[in-house]
Amino acid sequence: MRLLVVEDDPTIADPLCTGLRREGFTVDHVATGADAIAAAPADLVLLDLGLPDVDGRVVCRELRAVSNVPIIVVTARGEEIDRVALLELGADDYVVKPFGFRELVARIGAVHRRTASAVPAVDAQAAIDVGALRIDTRTHQVTLAGELLTLTPKEYDLLDYLARDVGAVRSRDEIIHDVWDENWWGSTKTLDVHIASLRKKIGAERIVTIRSVGFALVDPESDQ
Ligand code: CA
Repeated sequence: MRLLVVEDDPTIADPLCTGLRREGFTVDHVATGADAIAAAPADLVLLDLGLPDVDGRVVCRELRAVSNVPIIVVTARGEEIDRVALLELGADDYVVKPFGFRELVARIGAVHRRTASAVPAVDAQAAIDVGALRIDTRTHQVTLAGELLTLTPKEYDLLDYLARDVGAVRSRDEIIHDVWDENWWGSTKTLDVHIASLRKKIGAERIVTIRSVGFALVDPESDQ
């Protein structure tokens, strides 16, 4: 597993990279946002928000615009963390400095598992078709009328989850529990943010809100 560590402070980066290599990871280290954006593809990115050249948030958004790589944001203690804003940028998790090394390794493992394996395929189905929407559960590619969509890992998980039973109403609690296994981001606002961003990508009419219950994925072209 190849990690990209984006950290400008050598007193943090050096022991961190050494420790991660000792854990068996292949580690690329860059110290600026520009180098992070230009870096070779990685399996996971550890991204310091306080970089000397480009704001880490911008780096996060730029990385997310071109790939689905899982991103763990690293913030300094006291830095104001807007969780919803981080989610909207496409971050998968975050840690606050100073963090424990074991905790970080556990987080890397959890985020990687979550994004790499997602939900096991039902009936060994390779693709789920919901009208013009096609979800390939093996490659995690989603197309709408043949056009490839770029979803964040969490948006994909959410869509995949709803698509397992098209038309079924999933309660907010069920979705939070099943898609956000650790409930890390806490508030149910997280879910609304993801529903909203997913609607923007697949078409608002494809996810219906059942007031005070939850959400369902539907085929708007179908008669049912
Ligand atoms: Ca920094």
